[in-house]
Amino acid sequence: MKKILRLLVLLLFVGLFVVSGCSKTDKYDYLVLVNKYSQLPDDWEKNVELVDAKNAWDEDIKVEKNAYENYLKLEKALEKEGVNIELDSVYRSVKAQQDLWDEWSVDPEKGIDYVRKFVAVPGYSEHHTGLAIDICIRKEDGELEFDNDEMIADRETFAKIHNKLADYGFILRYLENREDSTGYTYEPWHLRYIGDIEIAKEIMKKKITLEEYLDSIEDIKNNHEAAKYKIETTLKEYIENGVYKDSIINSRFNVTKIYSSKDEMDSSELSTMGLSDKDIAFEVTYQLQPAEGADINPIMVPDGEYNENLGWITNISRVGILKYNNKTKKYTIKNFGTGW
Ligand SMILES: [Zn+2]
Repeated sequence: MKKILRLLVLLLFVGLFVVSGCSKTDKYDYLVLVNKYSQLPDDWEKNVELVDAKNAWDEDIKVEKNAYENYLKLEKALEKEGVNIELDSVYRSVKAQQDLWDEWSVDPEKGIDYVRKFVAVPGYSEHHTGLAIDICIRKEDGELEFDNDEMIADRETFAKIHNKLADYGFILRYLENREDSTGYTYEPWHLRYIGDIEIAKEIMKKKITLEEYLDSIEDIKNNHEAAKYKIETTLKEYIENGVYKDSIINSRFNVTKIYSSKDEMDSSELSTMGLSDKDIAFEVTYQLQPAEGADINPIMVPDGEYNENLGWITNISRVGILKYNNKTKKYTIKNFGTGW
């Protein structure tokens, strides 16, 4: 009997922590950063999967496939709230941007200074990705609202729109008063598809820019405190919201050792473990507080000790890996409790 329980608990642990990253297309990275300082990746245009669509003026336009599918879902969801959005400008090739640049810069009425101010440098516009979508509004009287100032003033409508973005993998790309980070002033109409609903929710909830989100991921790789925090919070979330949802009400983690390419382990050691330079292997000790009448026998948690006075299971120690997913730019816990 004891043996079976132990096995069950072990299986729970294994099942709980083998969390695979979302499968995305391998062809390109939905979190790609294109801004005034970060150029469109060289092979982007030859790989990006574009589909045909029509904009509000019935013009032929192109949009990245998954971005378009999710845009249509967003459009439908907003319709139910009485908001009708339509597409304006979406994909623009580097060549089209170059043509626009060339044409406008020789126009005596515009000139190079005007162009520099209002037109993105070819290769540095997010619209090259096919993932950036400018929308406009079809008003109740059938007229289109597409003027920038008019849209910026239409707070109520855009609040409803922004509220729904993350549910379909979109973020608001150019936040108000965040020119310091994005390089652009507020553009309530410019939506950006990033492919991952969870990340989109995090970005929208924290009201951060894509630049800031990507920086925070970078921090984890280079900063032990950040890595430690990431491990602890990720484990806590999995324990308390995962399979143990009803049986563990509280957990505490203490990361005792972090291995990364910067420390004890060199690249070859990491690769022996099937890890890349960006992955983080760790050792942790932790405590769990079972809910009253919880289904699991706390004493059976492998290696843990049940402390009657505290009502906690203590002295559990494990190793695990925080595995970096290049596609989603996200860390997930792997091999927790099963060794490296
Ligand atoms: Zn735009």
